[in-house]
Amino acid sequence: MAIVSAIESTDGGRRLRLASPATHETIGEVPVTRAAEVRAAVARARQAQPAWALRGFAERAAIMRRAMNLVRDRQEQIIEVIRRETGRSHFETLMMEVFPALDVLTYYAKHAERILTDRRPSLHLLRTKKLLITYRPLGVVGIITPWNGPFILALNPSVQALMAGNAVVLKPSEVTPFAGALVGELLREAGVPDDVFQVASGDGETGAALVDAGVDKISFTGSVATGRTIGAACGGNLVPCTLELGGKDAMIVCDDADLERAAGGAVFGGFFNAGQFCCGTERVYVQRAVADQLIRRVVEKVRALRQGTSGEFDVGPMIWPRQLEVIERHVADAVAKGATVLCGGRRNTALGELFYEPTVLVDVNHDMLVMREETFGPVLPIVRVADDEEAIRLANDSIYGLSGTVWSKDDARAIAIARRLETGSVCINESSITYGACEAPFGGRKASGVGQVNGETGLRGYCHALPIVIDRFGQKEEQVWYPYTAAKEQVLQKVIRWVWGTPLGRLLS
Ligand code: NAD
Repeated sequence: MAIVSAIESTDGGRRLRLASPATHETIGEVPVTRAAEVRAAVARARQAQPAWALRGFAERAAIMRRAMNLVRDRQEQIIEVIRRETGRSHFETLMMEVFPALDVLTYYAKHAERILTDRRPSLHLLRTKKLLITYRPLGVVGIITPWNGPFILALNPSVQALMAGNAVVLKPSEVTPFAGALVGELLREAGVPDDVFQVASGDGETGAALVDAGVDKISFTGSVATGRTIGAACGGNLVPCTLELGGKDAMIVCDDADLERAAGGAVFGGFFNAGQFCCGTERVYVQRAVADQLIRRVVEKVRALRQGTSGEFDVGPMIWPRQLEVIERHVADAVAKGATVLCGGRRNTALGELFYEPTVLVDVNHDMLVMREETFGPVLPIVRVADDEEAIRLANDSIYGLSGTVWSKDDARAIAIARRLETGSVCINESSITYGACEAPFGGRKASGVGQVNGETGLRGYCHALPIVIDRFGQKEEQVWYPYTAAKEQVLQKVIRWVWGTPLGRLLS
């Protein structure tokens, strides 16, 4: 079965038919936006962007606050749309989509002007000049998003790009197009002009067309494979991009950790959104002294998880059939190589084709796919390690580096471990929540991505930092201008001797 199926439309183009991953009922159709239509959307966005940038921060912020009010007042409708295409629980949708949506709309409405205000750093050497740094919008930003957080992962970069004064063309995932469309409806209703924010539904073909449509930046969230393709295309077009890609996040549990909290964190980190979370806990390294206790508590908590489709439940279905195939392949490979399944390890067919039972594996090692490749499902492999050193070595033994967590009652010890992890962010005694902390720069290292999003770094990334150097004294000529003379060279040598050859010069330079 396929949750997304392509159908020919009467005008010779293609449409996508979507079915619910929980009930398999058809939930609607969307057109696949063709390359020419994408180029036209970008051209309209380019026309509309200067007026949007001229409207200033206060006006744009007022629009974002109106959007926040709409999200707050329409949360049930938003949750309904997202649940239809993801199947996840009501609470989880409220927590991971609506709550952060309210936060990012408010945060960037409140702080964008401060973050992007002109700066005047003093020049340490060129004292006869002054420097002004002003943040100019880039123009038109293409935003391409995945299916696992279909509303927030589309809204968050869009709000930042818009607050910085850009126009946006959003290409949401073909697996969850309706949440992306809803972002467009809400922003437009709040007052963002039609051509300043446009949504181009479609699949990878539409995404590739957007990358090549003459945009000024691509903000991509998705898999490593697509990230590589987009990165190469952006390189060819000399267009900047941020690539927020997959992960294989490690959790390190030290022998002095609060084991009850660590076990709860492992279960939440591993099974949140049915494991379809880029910063989900995909590997646990627990120190031998406490391993049995941790594993016992984890298994107890996992057995208590409720899978379902309606009412109160904890873990929903896989959103995309292809992901289920990956999960089954990883678990089968692990079992064939000696892993022990402590719970789960199979589909929950009583609920539907796309449900996989929350699974805990032990006796795993780095020869297994489940420890090397992104599983992106409800599977938690746990490895016993000797000490901090072995935990760090194994955590870093990965092509990925998105996020990670460390659990210890000793903050200094945990921070020392965190500093040595080759990863984009670390949380201590907390599952990975960095993306939800607006002030924190977020982005992967190694195969997990390029560049950082969110906060000051992310917002400034939607701008060109334009340095303007201004002469202060208006002398008729500069010492280094033509004609070059021996006398001028002597002066320059004198400056070099004084600045880099005397204690006072070194102090002031
Ligand atoms: P994907 O790469 O298959 O698709 C992501 C988007 O790219 C979709 O909109 C898709 O239509 C589009 N696309 C596909 N081919 C394209 C092409 N050639 N050119 C342009 N666009 C193209 O990823 P997915 O399966 O939707 O998402 C799951 C992945 O996303 C996981 O690996 C997950 O870890 C990752 N992810 C990362 C973050 C992060 O912040 N680092 C957040 C969420 C998800």
